[in-house]
Amino acid sequence: MTTHVWDYLPEYAKEKDDILDAVQTVFGSGQLVLGESVRGFEREFAAYHSLPYATGVDNGTNALKLGLEALGVGPGDEVITVSNTAAPTVVAIAGAGATPVFVDVREDDFLMDTDQVAAAITPRTRAILPVHLYGQCVDMAPLGRLAEEHGLRILEDCAQSHGARHHGRLAGTMGDAAAFSFYPTKVLGAYGDGGAVITADESIDRHLRQLRYYGMDKVYYVVRTPGHNSRLDEVQAEILRRKLRRLDEYVAGRNAVARRWEQLLGDLSGPGGLRLPTTNPGNTHVYYVYVVRHPQRDAIIQALRAHDISLNISYPWPVHTMDGFAHLGYTEGSLPVTERLAREIFSLPMYPSLPESEQERVAAALREVLAGL
Ligand SMILES: *Cc1c(COP(=O)(O)O)cnc(C)c1O
Repeated sequence: MTTHVWDYLPEYAKEKDDILDAVQTVFGSGQLVLGESVRGFEREFAAYHSLPYATGVDNGTNALKLGLEALGVGPGDEVITVSNTAAPTVVAIAGAGATPVFVDVREDDFLMDTDQVAAAITPRTRAILPVHLYGQCVDMAPLGRLAEEHGLRILEDCAQSHGARHHGRLAGTMGDAAAFSFYPTKVLGAYGDGGAVITADESIDRHLRQLRYYGMDKVYYVVRTPGHNSRLDEVQAEILRRKLRRLDEYVAGRNAVARRWEQLLGDLSGPGGLRLPTTNPGNTHVYYVYVVRHPQRDAIIQALRAHDISLNISYPWPVHTMDGFAHLGYTEGSLPVTERLAREIFSLPMYPSLPESEQERVAAALREVLAGL
């Protein structure tokens, strides 16, 4: 059998009774859309973050898009973000009608280089969108200072950082609002699509609730500004409620897998060779993906296929080099660190229930491949 970087079936085998009970709870509830499960999940997800408000939406991309719209971002506005991210981060900015502006990432942690943000601010900049990529948080203090100084909004992209902490604070509690995805692979994953936006601001939350419901005010059922249909599904909400109770366990499980990768591969790690991920001081990592780096990445991935190991790259194409964003005017060479990483990074298997034997098998194969390079 082929080893993949992610597989939900071992988790499903363990949690099957609870997941199927969640489905039956909703089917028997008499309310299939925006019912008690969505309301309950919103309450509990907000409480997990010690925030007053969470709004469930249909996926992470729309959580970002509606989050931007609720912060007042629209056509003519610029949003500063990174190109080293999942393309949907940038698709969401475009979807809100705004223009993405990219800064490069740092060589050591692959995260937004906050030193480059000040130079990217123009009179049209409206918001900063830091991506807590791979499971650890961007340095938020410098962004907070710039936002304050220039009157900018901050929307955190938390699609990869459920439960991650930055100097003690949870990802998603450090900006004006934060967008989450519950795509099945995520640290908190549904059995289908889902997303949420959390905030401490009542007016932002009210706006979000209208935006996900056609733009309607739910008291009078009158459209205030045309919005979207972006509701979180009731079944996914009930599954997420059950899984939220286990989020800290999932995070601990992913950390245990990371420690095992360090034990199994740490001695191979070094400059010019295989480089394992590092955690910045003040961060706790949730390892959405376990991204390693090697200059001969393509040869390694190719050779591992012969061992029935299929690895992923998160992400092989920097967003600014994609055809769909050519109109933004970035060329090859505009973001050198991002472009170099895209050629060198790859992901090792990572999920809480990854069997130890699989991990040992991958490590042994990788060792053999690296020795033969
Ligand atoms: C997964 C992801 C998204 C998009 O979430 P969907 O639920 O797939 O729409 C956005 N940003 C980042 C960083 C992601 O990893």
